[in-house]
Amino acid sequence: MRIVAIHEATIFTGENRANAVMNFSDMTTGLVAVVTDVIRDGKPVVGYGFGGTGRYSQNAICRERLIPRILAAPDKHSNGAGDNLDPFAIWDCMMSREKPGGHGDRAVAVGTIDMAVWDAAAKIADMPLAAFLAARHGSGEVPDRVPVYVGGGYYYPGADHSALQDEIRRYHDDGFKLVKIKIGGAPLDVDRRRIESLLEITDSSGLAVDANGRFARQEALSYAAALEPYKLAWLEEPAYPLDYALHAEVAQCYQGPIGTGESLLSTWDARNMLLFGGLRPDRDILMFDCALSYGICEYIRTIEAMEQAGWSRASVYPHGGHLLSLHITAGLGLGATEAYPYTHQPMGGFTDGLKIADGLVDVPDLPGIGFEGKSNFAFEFRKLV
Ligand SMILES: [Mg+2]
Repeated sequence: MRIVAIHEATIFTGENRANAVMNFSDMTTGLVAVVTDVIRDGKPVVGYGFGGTGRYSQNAICRERLIPRILAAPDKHSNGAGDNLDPFAIWDCMMSREKPGGHGDRAVAVGTIDMAVWDAAAKIADMPLAAFLAARHGSGEVPDRVPVYVGGGYYYPGADHSALQDEIRRYHDDGFKLVKIKIGGAPLDVDRRRIESLLEITDSSGLAVDANGRFARQEALSYAAALEPYKLAWLEEPAYPLDYALHAEVAQCYQGPIGTGESLLSTWDARNMLLFGGLRPDRDILMFDCALSYGICEYIRTIEAMEQAGWSRASVYPHGGHLLSLHITAGLGLGATEAYPYTHQPMGGFTDGLKIADGLVDVPDLPGIGFEGKSNFAFEFRKLV
């Protein structure tokens, strides 16, 4: 059993909206298709992966380094039983000759291919990825549905409070109960009015805010003090992603939950955040993004490190808003998944028609990750092979 070809392409995913640190108008993502020598219904089993949301395509790294290494080592592709791929061995193959540390763009590239390898492996086992993961790295049980929240409330050119309220009402109509909006892209007073306009239509436990790591020390502390009385669901990335000391300082003065970790791209970064970021296992939320941080193999190592540090899997809400995050939430027993029902297309959101109600989303039952059941995304992947 082996991988016989890996195809890749970069697609444009630009949308005219912004968070506190960046505009998304020229965004891209990388797609890969991992073709195996396993034939089902007369066709090879193909696994698909993409480069996550919110960071640009890193397919140049896939093309120049990772794909040649995989294709040059066919003896590393199969598990010991010879009945499926070995994602961890393929991961090691990608990372051979790579210097330790210095994560970032390489973590996205490895995550892109790792996703496709796991998709192929779950398809070879004829299981949804969630069930495939639960059997190997979870409790063995897959819930029928998992908690879900919307990452939305971006800054749109010319949008006012009523447009923001309409956006959040639309999510409520779609079955979501918890919504996250951006802060830090406007002065504090403006952000407070954005929050207060939404607290007219939702209670505080249904609203979280995300500063995307933009604040320096004084602004972080000012926001924390100003937002504390609202008792929001959480305050996300109140400090630069790698500023563990400022995270600790905010956690000292902000009693509500803090969410962070989506921009930590390796197990090592996650361990440092848990060691030095002052986060509190009884309330804070870890948002490591699987697609952006070396993929599922590394995510499993990150969860082990987190559990060793006294954290529960229920504290993990993977960032990303897409099918991979949903599958790992269900399969690894994590707390909740993000969703991007209308943004970050075609990657955002889940399979077409998947039921969302009362703040819970069903777990898809297609083999693998199930990109084939998301028509706008399947259209892009079909062009690869
Ligand atoms: Mg965020």
